[in-house]
Amino acid sequence: MDFREIQQTGFTQDYEINNSRYSSSVRTAENSNLILDGLSAEMRRVLEPSLRSVILRKEQFLYQEEDHLEYVYFPITAVVSEFKMLEDGRMVEISVTGKEGAVGLSALFSDSNVVSNCVQVSQAGQAKRVDAVTFEKLLRTNEKIRTGLSHFVDTYIRQISQKAICNMYHSVRERFCTCLLMIQDRCGLRTLDLTHEQIARTLGVYRPSVTNIAQELRECSMINYSRGGILIRDRKRIEQAACSCYVAIGA
Ligand SMILES: [Zn+2]
Repeated sequence: MDFREIQQTGFTQDYEINNSRYSSSVRTAENSNLILDGLSAEMRRVLEPSLRSVILRKEQFLYQEEDHLEYVYFPITAVVSEFKMLEDGRMVEISVTGKEGAVGLSALFSDSNVVSNCVQVSQAGQAKRVDAVTFEKLLRTNEKIRTGLSHFVDTYIRQISQKAICNMYHSVRERFCTCLLMIQDRCGLRTLDLTHEQIARTLGVYRPSVTNIAQELRECSMINYSRGGILIRDRKRIEQAACSCYVAIGA
């Protein structure tokens, strides 16, 4: 059963994630984005005519480096990763965003509206999007919308800073576990639509090292995997095996 089938059977509604600041949202706000939810009714009325619902496909690139920002995305069930491209062609993930945030804000706040990193969908799903020009006008003229975004911007900056430390000092095994937890917090699924190749790309390492770790975690009954994805079998032990960044970033 892949994650799309799980969604259709309503599995996500039954699944509870403990020790996560998003746990309540996973259970109660299956079709919402927390930034949009946090807007006042008045603000939602202002923004709603410009919002469009979209389905983001797995591994779809929303942006490449130096693209001009066209849309700001508000993930709902989709999970989106931001990557920095290395000179040798590898990519390293610098942030992951789901229903708690928005994608494209950093470019929106720059003078040029140029995107500085690759942005790729890691878990397919729903999102809302608004064209960048419209949203920028709203931001400039509406302090309440700016305030509504400030918490996420703070979290986003904290995540990028922590990732810099993580990529340098923490083991691939620890980062692998952190990666699983962060994605699960955002999509709320027990089976993550992830391949070893995708995780290797996320961590900026070669696939055999990811496969070795995945095998070890499977032998310990912490995960299972197949072509359908990675099943989280023992979340508590994965939390224990994750690096301190998981707690520092705030899930
Ligand atoms: Zn770390």
